[in-house]
Amino acid sequence: MNDPTMGALPRRQTDVAVIGVGIVGLCLAGFLAQRGRDVMLLDAGGSAASTANAGSLHVQMQSRFMRLFPERVASFEQQLPLYPKAVEYWREFERAINADFEMKVSGGLMVAETPEQFDFLVAKSRRERELGLEVELLERADLQRIAPYLGPAAFGAELCANEGKLNPLKCNTQIRAWASRMGVTIVDQCKVNQLRPAGSGFALTTSLGALDARQVAVAAGPGARALMDSAGTFLPVDPEPLHMNITEAAPPLILHLVQHAERSITLKQLSTGQVVIGGGWPAKLAAGADYPVVDPASVIGNVSLAQFMVPALGSLQIIRTWAGMNSKVDGRGVLGEMPGLPGLHAAIPGDAGYTLGPLTARLVADLMTGRDPGVDMRPYSPMRFQAEELRLLTAQ
Ligand SMILES: Cc1cc2nc3c(=O)[nH]c(=O)nc-3n(C[C@H](O)[C@H](O)[C@H](O)COP(=O)(O)OP(=O)(O)OC[C@H]3O[C@@H](n4cnc5c(N)ncnc54)[C@H](O)[C@@H]3O)c2cc1C
Repeated sequence: MNDPTMGALPRRQTDVAVIGVGIVGLCLAGFLAQRGRDVMLLDAGGSAASTANAGSLHVQMQSRFMRLFPERVASFEQQLPLYPKAVEYWREFERAINADFEMKVSGGLMVAETPEQFDFLVAKSRRERELGLEVELLERADLQRIAPYLGPAAFGAELCANEGKLNPLKCNTQIRAWASRMGVTIVDQCKVNQLRPAGSGFALTTSLGALDARQVAVAAGPGARALMDSAGTFLPVDPEPLHMNITEAAPPLILHLVQHAERSITLKQLSTGQVVIGGGWPAKLAAGADYPVVDPASVIGNVSLAQFMVPALGSLQIIRTWAGMNSKVDGRGVLGEMPGLPGLHAAIPGDAGYTLGPLTARLVADLMTGRDPGVDMRPYSPMRFQAEELRLLTAQ
């Protein structure tokens, strides 16, 4: 039954329903509409969850990921070659839709404080080069020359020249406007409660009523597991609540995207002068709810580490902190048709999913419209979860 205080769906049928107005859903819906498809884009919230992110464009492997999820590194490595392409694609996309994302590709530094941490970077960079990344190691003197803002504890760093940053608030606003111009019907405050195969397509039960779609793309981040479950299939996406801070604006200080070889942090300065500090400090789930709230311990820990690495940050005020919901899978994205359910596609980008957003959306759009994505899509296929699904079913 519909809630009479809410709006209604603009129509009851669509060619394609895309679920999730995050970076992936926005781009995917726009690409499909650009190719002449009738697309409805639905989100349980009002604005894209992706705006919670830090706007870092990641390419090198993040030490945090390697430390927390060592068992997923081999899976992650399969997607590594996509990251530099994803950064290039952001630039291409910005030009193609005539937008300004405040994008800067001025390199990313992963800083070591000890010889042991530097050794970790030596091994990591060797592996990354084997996998096709361009990275270099900097010893203290070279590091101080290019990054004089770093504190005295910096011992050395790994530099990845094609890392960078953009302003996600501007990106999502402009991409949303572009998707609308392409003809996408965007419906906010519309939660999809159920998704099931019906006839030659799918029947969606939403908070604004029923909707039939010939094809469905699930770009719902942490909401994807429940949606796929309702369709009778399995997609192991887990929520990960994370913390962020931003400072007041300051004169240009930090050129690079900065990370640490052993501790969780990313920091960078936007072109507006504000410094965004994040990098995986935990947030909490609100009691009895599925949205994230700030954990005060993360404010203190994250900001103290930032000031330790870049002492000049100590004179800046933190003007805002927030929490957002990340999605975790098995180390790489899930992009493609669900086994046994033709027409139902997963569009989950993988770790550092904002960086991967537009490119992974285009790859899924290619699959959904029968075009050659130009990339071997087998590593990203949801087929890889079939064995686990079977194991869970037989254990029940
Ligand atoms: C604090 C934080 C900082 C981050 N920083 C970075 C960074 O600097 N760089 C980077 O590359 N990545 C970063 N990430 C990761 C990145 O934000 C995500 O990987 C990316 O935004 C995922 O985009 P998405 O479109 O797949 O999903 P999301 O942005 O999660 O969007 C999913 C949408 O689906 C909607 N939805 C879910 N279920 C339903 C349902 N049943 N019905 C209708 N709608 C539904 C949600 O409301 C949401 O709007 C960060 C993540 C967090 C949390």
